[in-house]
Amino acid sequence: MSDSELDVKWMQYAMALAEKAEAQGEIPVGAVIVKEDEVLGEGWNQPITLHDSTAHAEIVAIRNAGKNIANYRLVGSTIYVTLEPCPMCAGAIIHSRIARLVYGAQDYKTGAVGSVMNLLQHDSNNHKVDFTSGLLEQQCSHQISAFFKKRRVEIKAAKENKTLKDDVNIDDDQID
Ligand SMILES: [Zn+2]
Repeated sequence: MSDSELDVKWMQYAMALAEKAEAQGEIPVGAVIVKEDEVLGEGWNQPITLHDSTAHAEIVAIRNAGKNIANYRLVGSTIYVTLEPCPMCAGAIIHSRIARLVYGAQDYKTGAVGSVMNLLQHDSNNHKVDFTSGLLEQQCSHQISAFFKKRRVEIKAAKENKTLKDDVNIDDDQID
């Protein structure tokens, strides 16, 4: 496999992880950390399930990888994420010394790797992370927008049936 074929393979893997988030009613974002074509750690978005606003796919994957290799530094690894990282996750990627980031869909509201800001390339970082954006962008973007479309339909139906509870948990602002 060429490098770009490997990138596609691992992004598809991250998309499969995103499906796990969706199965839990979470916004479908998945992340996998790979070194020498082997998985160091993986994660999917689950803040609602874990009662943890920091449980984005990247953070879950970074914690998983650190545990697996018993090292807080993930030197030489690549993280594949289906959605552009937010500022928190971009910061965590820098702290964990991940060498490279590959992401799929852009996040025009909170993206911190090119869309709204670019933390990875900031002059003040002594660790620079290479990145590739827009890999399988349409598929990744569709995965997320299809989720929101489905949720909107469900919410509308619930409202019409007056079965919607006040505490329904949908954070529609994050992405469209
Ligand atoms: Zn994040």
